Amino acid sequence: MLISPDRREVLELTRELLRVDTVNPPGNELAAAEVALAYGKRFGLDGHLSPLDDGRANLHLVLPGTGARAPLMYCGHFDTVPLGSSPWTRPPHAAEVDDDGVLWGRGAVDMKGGLAAMIVGMATLARAGAALPGDVHFLGTVGEEVDCAGARAALDAGAMAGVANLVIAEPTDLDLVVAHKGALFLEFTTYGRAAHGAMPDQGVNAITHMMCLLARLGTLDAELPAHTLLGGATLNVGTIEGGSVVNIVPDQCTARVDVRTVPGIEHPALVARVERLLDELGATHAGFRARMTVTGDYPAVGTSLDEPLVRAATGVLDTVLGRPAAVRGVSYFSDGSILQPATGVPTLLCGPGDPNLAHQTDERVDVLALERAAEFFTSLPAVLAD
Ligand SMILES: [Zn+2]
Repeated sequence: MLISPDRREVLELTRELLRVDTVNPPGNELAAAEVALAYGKRFGLDGHLSPLDDGRANLHLVLPGTGARAPLMYCGHFDTVPLGSSPWTRPPHAAEVDDDGVLWGRGAVDMKGGLAAMIVGMATLARAGAALPGDVHFLGTVGEEVDCAGARAALDAGAMAGVANLVIAEPTDLDLVVAHKGALFLEFTTYGRAAHGAMPDQGVNAITHMMCLLARLGTLDAELPAHTLLGGATLNVGTIEGGSVVNIVPDQCTARVDVRTVPGIEHPALVARVERLLDELGATHAGFRARMTVTGDYPAVGTSLDEPLVRAATGVLDTVLGRPAAVRGVSYFSDGSILQPATGVPTLLCGPGDPNLAHQTDERVDVLALERAAEFFTSLPAVLAD
């Protein structure tokens, strides 16, 4: 049975979601979740909200199957990044469609278009009375752009229990993303001893020690395994602060480092390796003293190409796009970093929109891509169950 979504519906639901300002902080995702819940209920989907803070709630929708198969979960986040300081060509929350069939707005790409496509797919199946062997779940989260708080809360509440497959509609230009990098945010502080700048031998320079530490850290990625689709780990020193005035030996320096990891790099093992590195520096550099804090931990996500989910999604995408789907990895992380490593569930990212337009001024998406995404999310559950 071939079931197709109504082409106008995905555009209209995306526009409704874009008109709700969910810039994070503060998020205000509840208002967008209510729009999606009302839409889902209109077509007979079961659903409820899970409040987190004031104005913030995750959304759960369910299209019940017969129970013969374990559930497939669709997932996406309601929050967006801020608007930035540059002026927009079109207002960012007006959801205008131009003469070329392009929908403009903050979140058009990342990722309200993807959210709408998943929900319209489920609603289309509900309206058609499709008898699927497994439930299709939708999890709409808060806070992905800041700390993945919604995904963490959903995981803690057992939302992933029994889920067999996970698809997240982050923008991939409708490519099939089977792997994405993880992120490990590390904060280092080195401690020295203040002295007169004219007599540096009387003190211990915390900045000099930080320079040794960062130089040594920069050689670490060569020790780490690479991934066929993602390449190697990367390391970026994002901030550094130290010292007070030019003529005092600085007694403290703090640097924040963003390590992007690939599947095969276990974050606890990497943290232990860096701690050993600090010990080595302490043994070889007189007066070296440092402390490390993990300030962000988002593991990498990878799924085997042999998984039935990958094969099913590839087949559906080939049909929807009229050409072979591209299979690749991406550098950004997603809620998958919270939901997949804890459960091991096969995970894909696939959604409408050019990822290069995410987080940019003048974010916008082709309406045609929204329609194709809705077709993908309508067809995938039945093909996966075959
Ligand atoms: Zn996103």
